[in-house]
This record gives sequence, structure tokens and C-alpha cells, in this order.
Amino acid sequence: MSSISEIFGSLVFNDRVMRERLPKETYKALRKTMAEGRTLKPEVAGVVANAMKDWAIEKGATHFTHWFQPMTGITAEKHDSFISPTADGNVIMEFSGKELVKGEPDASSFPSGGLRATFEARGYTAWDPTSYAFIKEGTLCIPTVFCSYGGEALDKKTPLLRSMEAVSHQALRILRLFGNTQVRHVNTTVGAEQEYFLIDREVYLKRKDLMFTGRTLYGMRPPKTQELDDHYFGSLKTRVQQYMKELNVELWKLGIMSKTEHNEAAPAQHELAPIYCDTNIATDHNQIVMDVMKKVAERRGMECLLHEKPFASVSGSGKHNNWSLSTDTGVNLLEPGSSPYENAQFLLFLCAVIKAVDQHQDLLRISASSAGNDNRLGAAEAPPAVISMFLGTELTEILEALEQGSNYEGIEKQDMEIGVHTLPKFPRDNTDRNRTSPFAFTGNKFEFRMPGSNMSISCPNMILNTITADVLMEFADKLEAADDFNAELNSLIRETIKNHKRIIFNGNGYTEEWLAEAKERGLLNLPTTPDALPYFIREENVELFAKHHIFTRTELFSRYEILLENYCKVVHIEANTMLEMAKKDIMPAAMKYIKFISETVNSLKSAIPSAAIAPEVELLEKMSNFAAEFYKISKKLESDISAIKEKSVLLEKACYLRDVIIKDMDALRVIADSMEEIMPKEYYPYPNYSDILFSVI
Ligand code: ADP
Ligand code: MG
Repeated sequence: MSSISEIFGSLVFNDRVMRERLPKETYKALRKTMAEGRTLKPEVAGVVANAMKDWAIEKGATHFTHWFQPMTGITAEKHDSFISPTADGNVIMEFSGKELVKGEPDASSFPSGGLRATFEARGYTAWDPTSYAFIKEGTLCIPTVFCSYGGEALDKKTPLLRSMEAVSHQALRILRLFGNTQVRHVNTTVGAEQEYFLIDREVYLKRKDLMFTGRTLYGMRPPKTQELDDHYFGSLKTRVQQYMKELNVELWKLGIMSKTEHNEAAPAQHELAPIYCDTNIATDHNQIVMDVMKKVAERRGMECLLHEKPFASVSGSGKHNNWSLSTDTGVNLLEPGSSPYENAQFLLFLCAVIKAVDQHQDLLRISASSAGNDNRLGAAEAPPAVISMFLGTELTEILEALEQGSNYEGIEKQDMEIGVHTLPKFPRDNTDRNRTSPFAFTGNKFEFRMPGSNMSISCPNMILNTITADVLMEFADKLEAADDFNAELNSLIRETIKNHKRIIFNGNGYTEEWLAEAKERGLLNLPTTPDALPYFIREENVELFAKHHIFTRTELFSRYEILLENYCKVVHIEANTMLEMAKKDIMPAAMKYIKFISETVNSLKSAIPSAAIAPEVELLEKMSNFAAEFYKISKKLESDISAIKEKSVLLEKACYLRDVIIKDMDALRVIADSMEEIMPKEYYPYPNYSDILFSVI
């Protein structure tokens, strides 16, 4: 095998390749366009397209596609081959500048939340030159944004790019106030840790629930799950090790710096962490990671489950979104500095995030909301649905001291003045990791742990960027207008700590006591997606997104509708799947077993009239009671499902699904799992939890 440095990025049309393959002038023009985020001039586009095509063909590609992120949450691609007919009946390989820059996929099958009905029927994709083209499975993929002809965003990338601009703009204003004239751009950086389950494909193919919904809808708790904590960081099974190795190589070829990998808490659960990079690239990369994870698993006879809660009673999967702000000169703005001067700036950025998170708990909660993640948040080993922030005891104490202007570890009172005077030394390595916090400061970045494993990280980061931009804007407005910068800085920081410290919580977020305390503190608790989503379109949020040019009112309402619709569809599909399994497999299996027990009872009775048949009869009674109950609930589920279509208002429908359908599903599952518990394995129609969770050996 070639060395890693040879492999790394070998399938990416990156800067090195561009420099090698493009005429100097074209290269310069392209770099300029990339830096400014503009569209390419046609003559430049033509040259770039041609070089891209030649490079891709040399690498074995035959097709190209505009690769984009519609609101479905997965990426979309429509492959076209490079082949073009010539007059003499032959073909040539062609790829024009026009094809590179703009595509017109048939947009009608992507969710638009009513946007296309009111505006244009068609949408178009446009190259996002800040993200490099790459080759995946023989196809040249060009990362693009996806918009309607009226310019409304139909994808997840456009608002993310807009939010990155917003936060850069406001952060620069703050840096200028601190006398920094060098920095020209502030980037948000992201490292997304991806959790997943790996199971054998044969087992997977026998479970309709896994195949149709990505999670098990039935399944009794196995005798052993994760109580011994023997899987976390445990040694890797050979098959898993080989999988991770191949996965790494595939990702490296695509320029993705997959770095750490280990087992997670649950059996069959693993994690992959890349090295962080700019937010939009990290978002593209995470989509590719999920895609490649599934493909490599399939090739190796396994199935990679990305659902947030594939199994009840064992840990679910999240996606830890590590996020920070960094200047184009390479300074991490959330890293405590070595001088008091730097620390004042650090403190201001820290306070901006504290305020942003407290003020916009609703939006952060929404950014992690989905039908799948509803099964995980608040369940074992997952952050609760309440947003709070972990800062560690030391930093919290410093903030408290600053708020009160009091002493901290022997530092004189006047020294606690903020500004370019002496500030206490900030703890640099915040090793005191709290794994139960939804939003934790980990030394030089924040780790947002609520997003689900299956989600695009685009929305969480778009929200993080936007709410931070908004507070930075408010801070910059105040500081720019101040006569005395230090005095204003002081009061700004103090006020922020005082007004927003309720969001800081360093204790165990998994407990009931915390939920009670959070309520007392006035923190929002939005347990389910239908609880959270209506907050999205509150007037203050419409204004917030409009102010920073992230969403127009129409765009925001369309997102709201799409998210709500998605929730409804997912729950509806799960309910249908559950019902089908009940009718086609579970009920018949129960009846077969009941027949077997009753035949046993009868034959025993006739063979040995005096025999004690109490246990058999007891089992028969138990089983037939369960079956009767199961039948009754499945009938109820069936009629409740048929009533879904009567709900014409989307939010009402979502609440109905949550309050009626999910309750039916839960009840049905309890009975099915009780039957599974007393049924012999040969009668139960599906591989059980042990078969699945311990299928990769
Ligand atoms: P953990 O203990 O959670 O695994 P790590 O320090 O290994 O912590 O980091 C986890 C993730 O955070 C990695 O993906 C890493 O690249 C990312 N990360 C580190 N620094 C930053 C940063 N400044 N901005 C964004 N992500 C970062
Ligand atoms: Mg982590």
C-alpha cells in the first residue's frame, strides 16, 4: 500500500492539483473567486472544468454530479456521464464550464415546504468553490448549493454559508476594537465526532424495522448489554478493526482527516472523530463520512446503523459537534491567552457564547430535534432535552468573582477589573470533562452533544453561528459607541454573567433533580420535536434570521414546515412498519406457539390423565392473554393510524402522532417484548437483541 501521505487527498481536486493543472492566470482567478465567494467567470469556468474532467478521467471517473444537501438530510446526486456524441457517430468526453458552475436538477421531488408552490417550480445548483470537488465511486462530485430560481435556499448549505459570513463580520468588529488590524476573516471551526453501530448484514436483512426505519421497534432487553462497561475503549474485534482500516483509507483519499476511532459504550457501538476544519468543509465531510461508513460496511457484509436510537435499553448515538472561532491568522478565539490583554478578549467571546446559548435555548434545541433524536435525548446516557452549559468549576468561579468584583485565589480586588489590566490566569486545560452536559466548554472549544448521529451538522452550526453573531453584534454596537472602552467592557461582561449565569450548570445532567432545578431557573424544557419546532417561527426568531441574512421569513417558515413534515412522515412510517410486523409475523408466531402449548396440554392430558399440567396451562394462559392484548392494541393502532389523514393542520398532526400513535406503539412493544421473553427462540420471527448486538464477531 502506498504511504498515507500519497493516499491523502488523492481523490480531491484540491489546491495542489489546481496549481499543477491550471494555467497560472486561471488558477489566480479561481483563488480570487474562492476567497471572495463569487461565481466564476465563464471563460475561467471552462478552463477549470476541462482540467477537472481530465484529472477525474485519469482517476477512473466516468460521470459527474452536482452534489448537494437538500432538506432531506442526506446528500443528493444525479449522475451524468462525461460522454458527448460527435457528428461522426463517436463519443468524446466533455465537461463544460456551464456544467461545472450551474446545474438544474429536477427539484420537484425535494422537500421545499411550499416554497416552490409560491415561487418557481424549478431549482438550480451552483458550485460552492469554497469546497473542493472530489471523486466518489467513479463520479466527480461538485459540492453545490441548491436554490430556487427566486434565490430562496432549498438546501442546508446556503444558510450555513450565510451564517459563517454573519459571525465573521461581527467577530471582526470586536477584534478591531481590541486593536487587531491584521485579521481579515474569522472562521468557525468544527470537529464532528460520529457515533455508529456496526452489525452483521444477514441479521439486519431479517429485521423489517431496521430496514425500513433504521431502528428496532420491538426487542426484548438481552441478558447482557453495557452494564460491565467492557466495550467502551475495549479492544477491537478483527472484523471491526479491518472495517475501520478500510474506512480510514477511503476517507483519507477524500481528504478527510479521520483521526481517532474507538468502541463506544454500547456493544457494537463505535465512534470516529476527524480533525477539525472550517465549518462548511466539516459539514460536507461529515455527510461523506456517513455515506462512506455505510458503503464500506455493506462491502464487508455488515450494516452501519446511524440512527440515534437503534436499540432500546442501550446507549443511543450522538454527534458531538466541537465548535470554535478562529481567525485567518490562526488564533483560536476561545482559547484563553497568555496575557491579560488576550484574556479580556477571550472573556468577551466566552460571554458572547454564554449569552447566546441562554438567550436562544429554543433554537439550539430545535437544531437537534428530529423524530429519531426524540428517542435519545433524555434517555440513558444522553443529554436531557434541557439546554445548559458546562464551564468547569474553576472557570465558573472566576466568572463569579468577576461578576462580584471580588477576590479570586488571592488576587487583589482591583486586579479583577477587566480590560487591559491584570486578569487571573485562566485554566488552559479544562480536563474536568462532564459527559452529561449538552453544551460543554472543553478548554478551547465548545462541545455541543445534543445533535443526533443521523443528522446533518449544518443546522446546529448555522444556529451556533447566528446566535453568536447576534450577541457579538450587540456587544460591538455598545463598545463602539462607548467613550471609555474598558469601563464599557467591564460592565458588559459583568452584566452578561449576572443575567445569563442560570445557563451554567456543572453537575450531573442525567438526574431528575437537575430537571427540577432547571425548571426553577426558568430554563426551557422542550422534550419532543413538536414541542420545540413552533419556537422556530416565533417573531423574535424571524427577526433574528432576517437581521443576519440567514433566512427570509418565507424561507424560515418553509424550513419549519419541512421539519414538521419530516417528523410526521418518520413516525407514520414507524407505525406502519410496526403494524405490518405485528400482523404478518408476530401475531402468527404467537398463535403458532399457543397452538403448540395447547397441543402439548391436550396430548399430555390424554396420555397421562393424572399428570400435573399446571405449568403448561399457566404458560398457555399467559401467552393467550398476551396475544389477546397484543391483538387489541394492534387494532387500536390500526384505527388510530387511519385517523392520521384527518389531521390537516401539520402541527396538530405531529402532536397527534406523538400523543396517540407513539403511545400505541409503546404499548404494543411492551406486550410483544413480554411475549418474546416467554417464547422459544425458534418461534420468535426475528433475530433478537443478543443476535443483533453481538452479531459482529
Ligand atoms: P474528546 O475527548 O472529546 O475526544 P478531542 O480533544 O480529541 O476531545 O477533540 C474532539 C474533537 O474536537 C476532534 O474532532 C477535534 O478535532 C475537535 N477540535 C479540537 N479543537 C477544535 C477547535 N478549535 N475547533 C473545533 N473543533 C476542535
Ligand atoms: Mg467528545
